[in-house]
Amino acid sequence: MTGGYPGREKQTNCNQGEIMKRFSFLRCAQRLLSAGLFIAFSSAAAWAKDLPQESPGVTISVFNDSGISSEILKQAEKVSSQVFEESGIHVDWVNCFPAEEAPGGEIACRQAAFPQHLHLRIVRRSLSLKDSTLGISYLLSDGTGCQADIFYERIEKLHHETFVDPAIILGHVAAHEIGHLLLGNNSHSPWGIMRAHWNLGELARANKGLLLFTKSQSHRMTEKLCVAMARGKWPSASSTELSADD
Ligand SMILES: [Zn+2]
Repeated sequence: MTGGYPGREKQTNCNQGEIMKRFSFLRCAQRLLSAGLFIAFSSAAAWAKDLPQESPGVTISVFNDSGISSEILKQAEKVSSQVFEESGIHVDWVNCFPAEEAPGGEIACRQAAFPQHLHLRIVRRSLSLKDSTLGISYLLSDGTGCQADIFYERIEKLHHETFVDPAIILGHVAAHEIGHLLLGNNSHSPWGIMRAHWNLGELARANKGLLLFTKSQSHRMTEKLCVAMARGKWPSASSTELSADD
């Protein structure tokens, strides 16, 4: 199956819970404590300070509907993982489409759970957004959301214009869009990977592995991932786009 969506862009429904394999209370305890968020979990505060500091994680199910090779996709996932590792976040990737890459019909391909399990779709082009748009994340009114889309034709164009490896561009665009899902509404910043518009400077930094989340953004994402394991949320819709300057 190739091409985009019939009609308009389709969004994944998120649920609470289920896929929490990378989350344990132990892993996040110290992070919550250092963030001053341990009041709600005070019974654990006494022992939390003695626990080793481990990274929170997020699972990302990938639906490759763009026809790009699995080699480029896996390179891009590695690039994206490195960006998140710089923020102290581990990423588990599950390649769901084409289906042969998800033998046994992974449960992670059928479910999503904000914020610890998100879905990423790579399609050729958007059916409704302007040509310069590289990706879009679907956020509800309270800033939560489980799905982001990436438009690969624009990435190919940037590759031809700048000679930056398409896997490097794709990996950073993926990190940007997943960043929107983890950071919530109004999460663009004047610098770093969350800049709304990328020019040659951003692509040059991406090529050197220097296009990253800010320290503040990293803290916000890790706190959200850690807090989410004990609390639930849910809600209705806005979206945030990423585009590249011509
Ligand atoms: Zn954006």
